[in-house]
Amino acid sequence: MLLLGRVITFCGDPAEAVYLEGDRIADVGSQNDLCARYPGARRLQFEQITPGLHEAHAHPQLWGLQLDSLDLEGLTEPLAVAQRVAERAQGLPPGSWIRGAGYLFKAYPDRSLLDRAAPLHPVFLQSRDRHSAWVNTRALEQAGIGRETPDPPGGVLVRDGAGEPTGYLLENAQKLVQRVLPPPGLVELERGLQDLARRGYTAVHHMGWCHYGLAERLAATGRLPVWLWWALDKDHWRETRPGWRGDRLEIAAVKFFADGALGSRTAWMVEPYPDGSHGLVLDPPELIESEGRAALQAGFGLAVHAIGTRAVREVLGVFHRLAPHARRVLRMEHVQHVQDEDLPRFRGLPLALSLQPMHLLGDAELVRHHLRGQERQAFRLRDLWSTGLPLAFGSDAPVMKPLFALNLQAATQHPLDPAQSLTPLEVLWAHTRGAALAAGWAEQGQICPGAPADLTLWEGGRPVGRVFGGVLEVS
Ligand SMILES: [Zn+2]
Repeated sequence: MLLLGRVITFCGDPAEAVYLEGDRIADVGSQNDLCARYPGARRLQFEQITPGLHEAHAHPQLWGLQLDSLDLEGLTEPLAVAQRVAERAQGLPPGSWIRGAGYLFKAYPDRSLLDRAAPLHPVFLQSRDRHSAWVNTRALEQAGIGRETPDPPGGVLVRDGAGEPTGYLLENAQKLVQRVLPPPGLVELERGLQDLARRGYTAVHHMGWCHYGLAERLAATGRLPVWLWWALDKDHWRETRPGWRGDRLEIAAVKFFADGALGSRTAWMVEPYPDGSHGLVLDPPELIESEGRAALQAGFGLAVHAIGTRAVREVLGVFHRLAPHARRVLRMEHVQHVQDEDLPRFRGLPLALSLQPMHLLGDAELVRHHLRGQERQAFRLRDLWSTGLPLAFGSDAPVMKPLFALNLQAATQHPLDPAQSLTPLEVLWAHTRGAALAAGWAEQGQICPGAPADLTLWEGGRPVGRVFGGVLEVS
């Protein structure tokens, strides 16, 4: 197969044509040369041909679950949400759950609207930031929530004047209902991965929340629609071993959480938030270091979530101490807020930085609000690029939609500091070659003879298809 178009190779100059043989790239060069060399080949023309896109930080199973849920993004009125619920209820057998997420309300509605919309179905809807939920009476009943139910630690059941839960749940109170929801399984994982494949991705870096056994089952069927790089939850790594399962799944790393997130003010900061708090320590640095050392010795890599300035500083310290033991690349996930004095400490580490610039599109306001005066420390894309470490871009789906265009927009037009913007080509590199390096897959993310034939095909600036394992898939 001979593909013609602007070819971004990321190893040497751009080209005009790429020739594939089986599941490998066989030749790259000018259109004239390759057409002359392979006169009998099937020819296809695209605007642009790039190495296969990586989604470098995602939760594909939760994304698969979300694809089957109501998308309530952009809705700000409870009535509009209730209408969507009523429509969904039409086609569903009574008793089955209706889920959804994405709304943003100014006040907490009670359950009456949802009861009218879906009297026969339990309903569980989450706000855009997933920190609160709106449910109906059926859902409260199934969860056994009543007037006598106390607020759980870290959560609030919003109540009416008589002390009766209204059907609005804050933070950990959501778990009272979540634990009776049917858990996502293999179907959701496969649905999430297939959706990413349809969007032109050829590789996905999975970041916990889903048991590796499901991925192993999928790998065993030979049905994996992407290369799958897998980070285990820290509670599971001692049960298994690192390495490949089948051709396309690598159990590669262990995931830790140094802190929380900015939206809920749980990102661990050096400077306090306006209310005087500093955020939350989730896995303490000592634990990341001791467990991380053991995991490295067992042959795993590490992927450590660090969002706040203090979390980034502490994890850098841990990585400096662990670097001599690392047989594969270490990863820091998110790296959202970095103080000046920590920037030089990135250099020279066997480290890749996994970022989701698209969070900026929602978080820029949060940064201005929660971190007044510290805006300059947020999403330092140019500064991090300048460390010389590979950047790897993803979406954190389902938190954001896995759209290349969102990372492109946020990273090339930085809403907080234009000087921190990257070029479109740099964004593409971080979604392909940089991500491949972050996965430790040195062959991938480039178009050169001998590399795997995994390509993303573009028209009008967006992915319209891919070549995966040498097989053409155009939507
Ligand atoms: Zn995540």
